[in-house]
Amino acid sequence: MSIKVLPAEIAARIAAGEVIERPASVIKELVENSIDAGSTEISIQVELGGLSWIRVTDNGCGISPDEIDLAFHRHATSKLATVEDLSSISTFGFRGEALASIAAASKVTLVTRPTGSDSAFLANIENGQISPPQQVGASLGTSILVESLFSTIPARLKFIKSYQAEGSRILSTVEHLALANSHVKFTYTADNKNKLVTSGNGQLRDVISALRGVNQANSMIEVNSHAGRYQVMGLTSAPEHYKGNRTGISIFINGRWITNRSISAAIEEAYRGLLMQGNYPISVIFLEIPSTEVDVNVHPNKREVRLVNENDGFSSVHRAIREAILKQYPVIEAHGIAINSYTAVPEASNQPGFGFPANLDGTYASRFPERDEQIPDTIVGSSTNFPHLEMIGQIANMFLVADGGDGMYLIDQHSAHESLLYYRLLGQWELKAPEIQPMLQPIVVDLTPEQMDVISSYSNSFERYGLNFEAFGNDSLLIRSIPLVGRSMDIKKFINETLQSLARNTDLTDTHANIAASLACHSAIRAGQKLSISEIQALGNALVNEGNPNHCPHGRPTLLRISLQSLEKEFGRIQ
Ligand code: ADP
Ligand code: MG
Repeated sequence: MSIKVLPAEIAARIAAGEVIERPASVIKELVENSIDAGSTEISIQVELGGLSWIRVTDNGCGISPDEIDLAFHRHATSKLATVEDLSSISTFGFRGEALASIAAASKVTLVTRPTGSDSAFLANIENGQISPPQQVGASLGTSILVESLFSTIPARLKFIKSYQAEGSRILSTVEHLALANSHVKFTYTADNKNKLVTSGNGQLRDVISALRGVNQANSMIEVNSHAGRYQVMGLTSAPEHYKGNRTGISIFINGRWITNRSISAAIEEAYRGLLMQGNYPISVIFLEIPSTEVDVNVHPNKREVRLVNENDGFSSVHRAIREAILKQYPVIEAHGIAINSYTAVPEASNQPGFGFPANLDGTYASRFPERDEQIPDTIVGSSTNFPHLEMIGQIANMFLVADGGDGMYLIDQHSAHESLLYYRLLGQWELKAPEIQPMLQPIVVDLTPEQMDVISSYSNSFERYGLNFEAFGNDSLLIRSIPLVGRSMDIKKFINETLQSLARNTDLTDTHANIAASLACHSAIRAGQKLSISEIQALGNALVNEGNPNHCPHGRPTLLRISLQSLEKEFGRIQ
């Protein structure tokens, strides 16, 4: 067989199938062109999941009649002048391929009236042939009709699922375009039914209101942080609103909707302790990152991106969201104590969570069962008026008591300390500055050969917290240094439980957070431990000074308040 070059038309169809995967990708490309053209109103209409036809109409700058032909040429773009380098070109998808690909895969009718022109022009593109522009009447802007999509690429049609499945992909695409462009008024109609209308007033909250309802939108917490390396903005759900899956999480980098496991893990991680396992927040997060630090060439559709500095992405997002939530939700009002019907404590049950030992834990969960489901509705204070705590003493070697001026504060010594250590450790990880306790003599820990395999695959993560080790034979570990916070923990028990928990968690992006949680748990003051008044004061001060984390990594409260008002009520001083 001799080698032959593919005919141009076949080659164009193959290339088209790569750029345009499905109806939703046609809509994404057309709408992005409309946005690039400076449109303030974009209307999207489809029939039968876009497989019958798609129309995108905008009020942008239009295309002049002598450039219509060029617009449909592969690698023809008017946008090069506005971008400085190749990396930002690829970030924004200016490849001059979209219209050419769409035309190679379907029948296209274009109507466009450029700014300043009195008339509009219509052109048909079919089988790679473009008709001469014809003068017609139409309003300013561009309208592109795409019919019989993929009729020229039967192989691509086989990948297309049902009309319904394509329809829901389109809806999701349009929703994300609307979220990313709150200053544009979007109208989306499918099979003649109105599916979405946004106001275009530039308010993200109003777009979410159009998408998810006014209650959801109003309850969301604003995120706006420059504290990390990257700027993070957006809206994120209050802990009492959540979903059973990750579909509420939307991430935008430099204005484009993307997927990235590490950023998504950072969002989930920010809710550690605030949501039960298996529940996920609703988060719309915009990240600004220099385009040279974003790698979009992971997947042909450019949706999945990698960051040159994934750690900076993780910590910027994690910190921004965590701070935003805690600012809104500082202290939990004690339930059950200030009411007469307070009853006996049921037997403690184990909470699901990271390697937490069986003692003490669950007691909060069963005493305040509402914590299992959601944050109680009586949440008071704000971080700005968080009081100075005058530490008074310890109860049952388990709880600390403090006077906050506005009431009595009760602190779970183990959970509070654990929470402090957890956030300190994450901070050390972020700065790559672990506090280390070197060993004069290495500690030998015996492990099974399987455990040896597992722990060596995580050695970088452990090292970043200051746990350095090397294999000694095939079933022992020589520990050279340990994290300073863990200097009095049972190292063998710590390694065993951490490995068990890492084995349960197959998601590698939050390995480091799991290790921090385990370290914090094993290093924290135990319940049952007698503390001196100076230790009590140190813990109280740290709690107030270090952002008063009010939930431990497992979700139990660390701090409860009984307000003066409740005390006065209980004592009959007020009604
Ligand atoms: P790219 O967007 O990468 O430039 P496209 O194939 O998507 O490539 O579009 C080619 C060109 O056609 C654009 O650069 C732009 O000049 C023009 N164009 C496409 N859609 C529109 C539109 N809705 N309004 C104005 N001009 C458009
Ligand atoms: Mg384009």
